[in-house]
Amino acid sequence: MNYFFYTIVTILIFQYVLETALNYLNAKHFNDPVPNELADVFDEVEYRKSQDYKQTNYKFGILSSTFSLFLTLAFLIFGGFEWVDQFARNISDQPIIVALIFFGVIMIGSSILTTPFSYYQTFVIEEKFGFNKSTPKLFIIDKIKGWLMLIILGGGILAIILWFFQWAGDNFWIYAWAVVAVFSIFMNLFYSRLIVPLFNKQTLLEEGDLKTKITSYAEKVGFELKNIFVIDGSKRSTKANAYFSGFGNEKRVTLYDTLINDLDDDEIVAVLAHEVGHYKRKHIIFNMIASLLLTGLTLFILSLFVNNPEVSYAIGVSQFSFHAALISFGILYSPISEITGLIMNYLSRKFEFQADDFAKNTFKSQPLITSLKKLSKNSLSNLTPHPAFVFLHYSHPPLVERIRNLNS
Ligand SMILES: [Zn+2]
Repeated sequence: MNYFFYTIVTILIFQYVLETALNYLNAKHFNDPVPNELADVFDEVEYRKSQDYKQTNYKFGILSSTFSLFLTLAFLIFGGFEWVDQFARNISDQPIIVALIFFGVIMIGSSILTTPFSYYQTFVIEEKFGFNKSTPKLFIIDKIKGWLMLIILGGGILAIILWFFQWAGDNFWIYAWAVVAVFSIFMNLFYSRLIVPLFNKQTLLEEGDLKTKITSYAEKVGFELKNIFVIDGSKRSTKANAYFSGFGNEKRVTLYDTLINDLDDDEIVAVLAHEVGHYKRKHIIFNMIASLLLTGLTLFILSLFVNNPEVSYAIGVSQFSFHAALISFGILYSPISEITGLIMNYLSRKFEFQADDFAKNTFKSQPLITSLKKLSKNSLSNLTPHPAFVFLHYSHPPLVERIRNLNS
Protein backbone atom coordinates (compact mmCIF):
# COMPACT_ATOMS: atom_id res chain seq x y z
CA MET A 1 0.00 0.00 0.00
CA ASN A 2 1.39 3.40 -0.88
CA TYR A 3 0.71 7.07 -0.53
CA PHE A 4 -1.05 7.31 -3.91
CA PHE A 5 -3.39 4.48 -2.90
CA TYR A 6 -4.65 6.43 0.12
CA THR A 7 -4.99 9.57 -2.00
CA ILE A 8 -7.11 7.64 -4.52
CA VAL A 9 -9.41 6.22 -1.83
CA THR A 10 -9.73 9.68 -0.24
CA ILE A 11 -10.61 11.29 -3.58
CA LEU A 12 -13.26 8.64 -4.36
CA ILE A 13 -14.91 9.00 -0.94
CA PHE A 14 -14.65 12.78 -0.91
CA GLN A 15 -16.27 13.06 -4.34
CA TYR A 16 -19.08 10.75 -3.26
CA VAL A 17 -19.72 12.75 -0.07
CA LEU A 18 -19.62 16.07 -1.93
CA GLU A 19 -22.03 14.86 -4.65
CA THR A 20 -24.41 13.31 -2.15
CA ALA A 21 -24.43 16.47 -0.02
CA LEU A 22 -25.06 18.64 -3.09
CA ASN A 23 -27.89 16.41 -4.27
CA TYR A 24 -29.39 16.46 -0.79
CA LEU A 25 -29.21 20.26 -0.68
CA ASN A 26 -30.80 20.47 -4.11
CA ALA A 27 -33.56 18.03 -3.14
CA LYS A 28 -34.38 20.05 -0.04
CA HIS A 29 -35.29 22.93 -2.35
CA PHE A 30 -37.59 20.95 -4.66
CA ASN A 31 -40.58 22.37 -2.76
CA ASP A 32 -39.47 26.00 -2.83
CA PRO A 33 -42.15 28.41 -4.08
CA VAL A 34 -42.00 28.72 -7.87
CA PRO A 35 -40.82 32.21 -8.96
CA ASN A 36 -43.58 34.46 -10.38
CA GLU A 37 -42.03 34.48 -13.85
CA LEU A 38 -42.44 30.70 -13.98
CA ALA A 39 -45.96 30.48 -12.56
CA ASP A 40 -47.38 29.43 -15.94
CA VAL A 41 -44.88 26.66 -16.71
CA PHE A 42 -46.81 23.87 -14.98
CA ASP A 43 -50.43 23.47 -14.01
CA GLU A 44 -51.21 21.85 -10.63
CA VAL A 45 -51.19 18.27 -11.94
CA GLU A 46 -47.99 18.69 -13.96
CA TYR A 47 -46.28 20.40 -11.06
CA ARG A 48 -46.98 17.45 -8.79
CA LYS A 49 -45.76 15.11 -11.52
CA SER A 50 -42.53 17.10 -11.83
CA GLN A 51 -42.02 16.92 -8.05
CA ASP A 52 -42.48 13.18 -8.19
CA TYR A 53 -40.04 12.88 -11.12
CA LYS A 54 -37.33 14.84 -9.30
CA GLN A 55 -37.74 12.78 -6.11
CA THR A 56 -37.61 9.53 -8.06
CA ASN A 57 -34.42 10.56 -9.85
CA TYR A 58 -32.89 11.82 -6.61
CA LYS A 59 -33.41 8.49 -4.85
CA PHE A 60 -32.27 6.48 -7.84
CA GLY A 61 -29.16 8.68 -8.10
CA ILE A 62 -28.20 7.89 -4.49
CA LEU A 63 -28.67 4.19 -5.11
CA SER A 64 -26.57 4.08 -8.27
CA SER A 65 -23.75 6.32 -7.01
CA THR A 66 -23.50 4.29 -3.78
CA PHE A 67 -23.36 1.07 -5.79
CA SER A 68 -20.67 2.48 -8.02
CA LEU A 69 -18.56 3.73 -5.08
CA PHE A 70 -18.66 0.33 -3.35
CA LEU A 71 -17.90 -1.49 -6.57
CA THR A 72 -14.88 0.71 -7.31
CA LEU A 73 -13.53 0.51 -3.76
CA ALA A 74 -14.00 -3.28 -3.61
CA PHE A 75 -12.25 -3.73 -6.95
CA LEU A 76 -9.40 -1.51 -5.79
CA ILE A 77 -8.97 -3.05 -2.34
CA PHE A 78 -9.49 -6.73 -3.21
CA GLY A 79 -7.05 -6.86 -6.11
CA GLY A 80 -9.46 -6.61 -9.06
CA PHE A 81 -7.02 -4.66 -11.20
CA GLU A 82 -4.21 -7.13 -10.45
CA TRP A 83 -6.45 -10.00 -11.51
CA VAL A 84 -7.36 -8.33 -14.83
CA ASP A 85 -3.73 -7.34 -15.39
CA GLN A 86 -2.53 -10.93 -14.92
CA PHE A 87 -5.32 -12.21 -17.13
CA ALA A 88 -4.20 -9.85 -19.92
CA ARG A 89 -0.52 -10.69 -19.43
CA ASN A 90 -1.30 -14.40 -19.79
CA ILE A 91 -2.73 -13.74 -23.25
CA SER A 92 0.09 -11.61 -24.63
CA ASP A 93 3.42 -10.05 -23.68
CA GLN A 94 3.04 -7.10 -26.06
CA PRO A 95 2.38 -4.01 -23.87
CA ILE A 96 -0.10 -2.56 -26.38
CA ILE A 97 -2.12 -5.78 -26.58
CA VAL A 98 -2.02 -6.20 -22.79
CA ALA A 99 -3.30 -2.63 -22.33
CA LEU A 100 -6.12 -3.15 -24.86
CA ILE A 101 -7.25 -6.37 -23.16
CA PHE A 102 -6.93 -4.74 -19.73
CA PHE A 103 -9.13 -1.78 -20.66
CA GLY A 104 -11.45 -3.96 -22.72
CA VAL A 105 -12.19 -6.26 -19.74
CA ILE A 106 -12.67 -3.33 -17.35
CA MET A 107 -14.92 -1.36 -19.73
CA ILE A 108 -17.08 -4.31 -20.72
CA GLY A 109 -17.24 -5.53 -17.11
CA SER A 110 -18.34 -2.17 -15.72
CA SER A 111 -20.75 -1.68 -18.59
CA ILE A 112 -22.43 -5.02 -17.85
CA LEU A 113 -22.70 -4.16 -14.15
CA THR A 114 -24.19 -0.71 -14.82
CA THR A 115 -26.55 -1.82 -17.60
CA PRO A 116 -29.32 -2.84 -15.15
CA PHE A 117 -29.23 0.72 -13.82
CA SER A 118 -29.57 2.35 -17.23
CA TYR A 119 -32.23 -0.21 -18.17
CA TYR A 120 -34.20 0.69 -15.03
CA GLN A 121 -33.74 4.41 -15.72
CA THR A 122 -35.14 4.04 -19.24
CA PHE A 123 -37.84 1.40 -18.87
CA VAL A 124 -39.06 2.08 -15.35
CA ILE A 125 -38.45 5.75 -14.49
CA GLU A 126 -38.61 7.42 -17.92
CA GLU A 127 -41.42 5.04 -18.88
CA LYS A 128 -43.47 5.87 -15.78
CA PHE A 129 -43.31 9.59 -16.55
CA GLY A 130 -44.14 9.11 -20.22
CA PHE A 131 -40.75 10.05 -21.70
CA ASN A 132 -39.58 6.68 -22.93
CA LYS A 133 -40.15 5.66 -26.57
CA SER A 134 -37.33 3.12 -26.79
CA THR A 135 -37.84 -0.64 -26.82
CA PRO A 136 -35.70 -3.31 -25.12
CA LYS A 137 -34.53 -4.38 -28.57
CA LEU A 138 -33.43 -0.85 -29.53
CA PHE A 139 -31.84 -0.44 -26.10
CA ILE A 140 -29.70 -3.56 -26.58
CA ILE A 141 -28.75 -2.64 -30.15
CA ASP A 142 -27.71 0.84 -28.93
CA LYS A 143 -25.54 -0.73 -26.22
CA ILE A 144 -23.82 -3.03 -28.69
CA LYS A 145 -23.20 -0.21 -31.16
CA GLY A 146 -21.82 1.92 -28.32
CA TRP A 147 -19.44 -0.86 -27.29
CA LEU A 148 -18.25 -1.40 -30.87
CA MET A 149 -17.58 2.31 -31.25
CA LEU A 150 -15.68 2.37 -27.97
CA ILE A 151 -13.60 -0.65 -29.02
CA ILE A 152 -12.74 0.78 -32.44
CA LEU A 153 -12.25 4.47 -31.63
CA GLY A 154 -11.16 4.23 -27.98
CA GLY A 155 -9.00 1.18 -28.63
CA GLY A 156 -7.44 2.81 -31.70
CA ILE A 157 -6.50 6.00 -29.89
CA LEU A 158 -5.20 4.09 -26.87
CA ALA A 159 -3.03 1.93 -29.11
CA ILE A 160 -1.58 4.99 -30.84
CA ILE A 161 -0.81 6.71 -27.51
CA LEU A 162 0.88 3.56 -26.18
CA TRP A 163 2.92 3.29 -29.32
CA PHE A 164 4.07 6.91 -28.86
CA PHE A 165 4.99 6.08 -25.26
CA GLN A 166 7.19 3.18 -26.39
CA TRP A 167 8.74 5.21 -29.15
CA ALA A 168 9.15 8.72 -27.70
CA GLY A 169 9.31 8.07 -23.94
CA ASP A 170 8.48 11.10 -21.80
CA ASN A 171 7.77 13.22 -24.86
CA PHE A 172 4.88 10.95 -25.87
CA TRP A 173 2.41 13.55 -24.60
CA ILE A 174 3.18 16.02 -27.40
CA TYR A 175 2.46 13.43 -30.11
CA ALA A 176 -0.56 12.11 -28.23
CA TRP A 177 -1.87 15.65 -27.95
CA ALA A 178 -1.48 16.19 -31.71
CA VAL A 179 -3.39 12.98 -32.47
CA VAL A 180 -6.16 13.73 -29.99
CA ALA A 181 -6.44 17.29 -31.35
CA VAL A 182 -6.74 16.13 -34.96
CA PHE A 183 -9.22 13.46 -33.91
CA SER A 184 -11.45 15.86 -31.99
CA ILE A 185 -11.50 18.45 -34.78
CA PHE A 186 -12.29 15.67 -37.25
CA MET A 187 -15.10 14.42 -34.98
CA ASN A 188 -16.51 17.91 -34.56
CA LEU A 189 -16.64 18.27 -38.34
CA PHE A 190 -17.92 14.83 -39.28
CA TYR A 191 -19.75 13.54 -36.20
CA SER A 192 -23.12 14.30 -37.77
CA ARG A 193 -22.13 12.65 -41.02
CA LEU A 194 -20.40 9.54 -39.64
CA ILE A 195 -21.63 8.74 -36.13
CA VAL A 196 -25.18 10.07 -35.88
CA PRO A 197 -26.44 7.89 -38.80
CA LEU A 198 -25.43 4.80 -36.81
CA PHE A 199 -28.10 5.68 -34.25
CA ASN A 200 -30.63 7.95 -35.97
CA LYS A 201 -32.19 8.89 -39.24
CA GLN A 202 -31.53 12.46 -40.40
CA THR A 203 -33.40 14.19 -43.17
CA LEU A 204 -33.08 17.66 -44.63
CA LEU A 205 -35.77 19.98 -43.32
CA GLU A 206 -38.46 20.02 -46.00
CA GLU A 207 -39.43 23.15 -47.91
CA GLY A 208 -42.28 25.06 -46.29
CA ASP A 209 -43.13 27.87 -43.89
CA LEU A 210 -40.63 26.85 -41.24
CA LYS A 211 -37.76 26.51 -43.67
CA THR A 212 -38.61 29.89 -45.26
CA LYS A 213 -38.69 31.58 -41.85
CA ILE A 214 -35.38 30.05 -40.81
CA THR A 215 -33.71 30.96 -44.11
CA SER A 216 -34.90 34.55 -44.02
CA TYR A 217 -33.69 34.94 -40.42
CA ALA A 218 -30.29 33.46 -41.35
CA GLU A 219 -29.97 35.85 -44.30
CA LYS A 220 -30.91 38.80 -42.13
CA VAL A 221 -28.07 38.13 -39.69
CA GLY A 222 -25.62 37.14 -42.44
CA PHE A 223 -25.30 33.54 -41.44
CA GLU A 224 -24.90 30.90 -44.07
CA LEU A 225 -27.16 28.01 -43.22
CA LYS A 226 -27.66 25.44 -45.93
CA ASN A 227 -27.78 22.35 -43.78
CA ILE A 228 -30.81 22.12 -41.54
CA PHE A 229 -31.53 18.54 -40.55
CA VAL A 230 -34.36 16.88 -38.69
CA ILE A 231 -33.41 13.89 -36.55
CA ASP A 232 -35.82 11.18 -35.33
CA GLY A 233 -35.19 11.72 -31.62
CA SER A 234 -38.76 10.53 -31.01
CA LYS A 235 -37.66 6.94 -31.54
CA ARG A 236 -36.07 7.00 -28.06
CA SER A 237 -37.60 9.79 -26.01
CA THR A 238 -40.21 12.54 -26.04
CA LYS A 239 -37.61 15.02 -24.77
CA ALA A 240 -36.73 17.70 -27.32
CA ASN A 241 -33.43 19.23 -28.36
CA ALA A 242 -31.58 21.18 -31.05
CA TYR A 243 -27.86 21.48 -31.61
CA PHE A 244 -25.26 22.99 -33.79
CA SER A 245 -22.22 21.14 -35.09
CA GLY A 246 -19.20 21.53 -37.33
CA PHE A 247 -17.85 24.70 -38.88
CA GLY A 248 -17.05 26.07 -42.34
CA ASN A 249 -18.81 24.07 -45.02
CA GLU A 250 -19.65 21.32 -42.57
CA LYS A 251 -21.64 23.46 -40.19
CA ARG A 252 -25.17 22.30 -39.69
CA VAL A 253 -28.15 22.65 -37.41
CA THR A 254 -29.95 19.57 -36.20
CA LEU A 255 -33.51 19.80 -34.90
CA TYR A 256 -35.16 16.93 -33.05
CA ASP A 257 -38.50 15.99 -34.56
CA THR A 258 -39.85 16.30 -31.01
CA LEU A 259 -38.78 19.96 -30.98
CA ILE A 260 -40.68 20.61 -34.21
CA ASN A 261 -43.75 18.95 -32.68
CA ASP A 262 -43.61 20.88 -29.41
CA LEU A 263 -42.76 24.39 -30.62
CA ASP A 264 -44.37 26.74 -33.13
CA ASP A 265 -42.38 28.23 -36.02
CA ASP A 266 -41.43 31.47 -34.26
CA GLU A 267 -40.23 29.56 -31.23
CA ILE A 268 -38.06 27.30 -33.38
CA VAL A 269 -36.53 30.32 -35.13
CA ALA A 270 -35.85 31.83 -31.68
CA VAL A 271 -34.08 28.63 -30.57
CA LEU A 272 -32.01 28.71 -33.76
CA ALA A 273 -31.25 32.42 -33.26
CA HIS A 274 -29.84 31.44 -29.87
CA GLU A 275 -27.65 28.79 -31.55
CA VAL A 276 -26.53 31.26 -34.22
CA GLY A 277 -25.62 33.57 -31.32
CA HIS A 278 -23.19 30.95 -29.99
CA TYR A 279 -21.57 30.78 -33.38
CA LYS A 280 -21.44 34.54 -33.98
CA ARG A 281 -20.08 35.28 -30.52
CA LYS A 282 -17.32 32.71 -31.21
CA HIS A 283 -18.31 30.44 -28.31
CA ILE A 284 -17.91 27.35 -30.44
CA ILE A 285 -14.34 28.12 -31.45
CA PHE A 286 -13.52 29.23 -27.88
CA ASN A 287 -14.81 25.97 -26.43
CA MET A 288 -12.86 23.96 -28.92
CA ILE A 289 -9.57 25.77 -28.23
CA ALA A 290 -10.14 25.59 -24.46
CA SER A 291 -10.77 21.87 -24.62
CA LEU A 292 -7.66 21.31 -26.77
CA LEU A 293 -5.54 23.28 -24.28
CA LEU A 294 -7.01 21.34 -21.37
CA THR A 295 -6.25 18.06 -23.13
CA GLY A 296 -2.65 19.19 -23.63
CA LEU A 297 -2.35 20.13 -19.96
CA THR A 298 -3.80 16.79 -18.85
CA LEU A 299 -1.45 14.81 -21.09
CA PHE A 300 1.54 16.86 -19.92
CA ILE A 301 0.73 16.22 -16.25
CA LEU A 302 0.19 12.53 -17.09
CA SER A 303 3.71 12.45 -18.55
CA LEU A 304 5.10 13.62 -15.19
CA PHE A 305 3.43 10.75 -13.31
CA VAL A 306 3.31 7.85 -15.71
CA ASN A 307 6.88 6.66 -15.17
CA ASN A 308 6.60 6.59 -11.40
CA PRO A 309 5.99 2.89 -10.56
CA GLU A 310 4.21 3.89 -7.32
CA VAL A 311 1.42 5.40 -9.43
CA SER A 312 0.83 2.00 -11.06
CA TYR A 313 1.09 0.10 -7.76
CA ALA A 314 -1.52 2.40 -6.21
CA ILE A 315 -4.31 0.42 -7.87
CA GLY A 316 -2.96 -2.85 -6.47
CA VAL A 317 -1.11 -4.25 -9.49
CA SER A 318 2.28 -5.91 -8.94
CA GLN A 319 3.90 -4.78 -12.20
CA PHE A 320 4.47 -1.26 -13.48
CA SER A 321 2.59 -0.43 -16.70
CA PHE A 322 1.27 2.52 -18.70
CA HIS A 323 -2.30 1.22 -18.52
CA ALA A 324 -2.28 0.79 -14.73
CA ALA A 325 -0.74 4.25 -14.34
CA LEU A 326 -3.46 5.63 -16.62
CA ILE A 327 -6.27 4.33 -14.37
CA SER A 328 -4.54 5.60 -11.27
CA PHE A 329 -3.83 8.97 -12.86
CA GLY A 330 -7.44 9.23 -14.05
CA ILE A 331 -8.61 9.25 -10.43
CA LEU A 332 -5.72 11.34 -9.05
CA TYR A 333 -6.37 13.97 -11.70
CA SER A 334 -10.14 14.11 -11.21
CA PRO A 335 -10.09 16.90 -8.57
CA ILE A 336 -8.25 19.09 -11.11
CA SER A 337 -10.72 18.21 -13.84
CA GLU A 338 -13.55 19.05 -11.40
CA ILE A 339 -12.06 22.52 -11.07
CA THR A 340 -11.52 23.04 -14.80
CA GLY A 341 -15.07 21.72 -15.34
CA LEU A 342 -16.36 24.26 -12.87
CA ILE A 343 -14.62 27.08 -14.75
CA MET A 344 -15.96 25.80 -18.08
CA ASN A 345 -19.49 25.62 -16.64
CA TYR A 346 -19.18 29.17 -15.34
CA LEU A 347 -18.13 30.41 -18.79
CA SER A 348 -20.82 28.33 -20.46
CA ARG A 349 -23.52 29.99 -18.32
CA LYS A 350 -22.15 33.41 -19.36
CA PHE A 351 -22.24 32.30 -22.99
CA GLU A 352 -25.87 31.22 -22.64
CA PHE A 353 -26.84 34.74 -21.59
CA GLN A 354 -24.89 36.16 -24.54
CA ALA A 355 -26.60 33.79 -26.97
CA ASP A 356 -29.99 34.67 -25.46
CA ASP A 357 -29.15 38.37 -25.89
CA PHE A 358 -28.21 37.74 -29.49
CA ALA A 359 -31.58 36.06 -30.12
CA LYS A 360 -33.35 38.93 -28.36
CA ASN A 361 -31.54 41.59 -30.41
CA THR A 362 -31.68 39.95 -33.82
CA PHE A 363 -35.07 38.24 -33.48
CA LYS A 364 -37.47 38.44 -30.54
CA SER A 365 -37.31 37.57 -26.87
CA GLN A 366 -40.93 36.48 -26.40
CA PRO A 367 -40.84 33.29 -28.51
CA LEU A 368 -37.55 32.30 -26.88
CA ILE A 369 -39.16 32.71 -23.46
CA THR A 370 -42.17 30.60 -24.38
CA SER A 371 -39.98 27.96 -26.03
CA LEU A 372 -37.79 27.67 -22.93
CA LYS A 373 -40.90 27.32 -20.79
CA LYS A 374 -42.37 24.64 -23.03
CA LEU A 375 -39.11 22.69 -23.08
CA SER A 376 -38.87 22.87 -19.27
CA LYS A 377 -42.46 21.78 -18.91
CA ASN A 378 -42.08 18.87 -21.32
CA SER A 379 -38.97 17.57 -19.58
CA LEU A 380 -40.45 18.16 -16.08
CA SER A 381 -37.36 20.12 -15.17
CA ASN A 382 -36.44 21.57 -11.81
CA LEU A 383 -37.57 25.21 -11.55
CA THR A 384 -35.91 25.83 -8.19
CA PRO A 385 -32.37 24.40 -8.26
CA HIS A 386 -30.09 25.20 -5.32
CA PRO A 387 -27.43 27.85 -6.16
CA ALA A 388 -24.58 25.56 -5.04
CA PHE A 389 -25.84 22.82 -7.35
CA VAL A 390 -26.10 25.32 -10.20
CA PHE A 391 -22.59 26.63 -9.49
CA LEU A 392 -21.05 23.17 -9.73
CA HIS A 393 -23.14 21.36 -12.31
CA TYR A 394 -25.18 23.64 -14.52
CA SER A 395 -23.84 24.49 -17.95
CA HIS A 396 -26.98 26.61 -18.49
CA PRO A 397 -28.33 29.27 -16.14
CA PRO A 398 -31.55 28.32 -14.29
CA LEU A 399 -34.67 29.07 -16.32
CA VAL A 400 -35.80 31.96 -14.13
CA GLU A 401 -32.50 33.81 -14.61
CA ARG A 402 -32.66 33.39 -18.38
CA ILE A 403 -36.20 34.72 -18.46
CA ARG A 404 -35.33 37.69 -16.25
CA ASN A 405 -32.42 38.46 -18.57
CA LEU A 406 -34.62 38.15 -21.68
CA ASN A 407 -37.24 40.43 -20.12
CA SER A 408 -34.75 43.07 -19.04
ZN1 LIG B 1 -27.01 27.71 -25.70
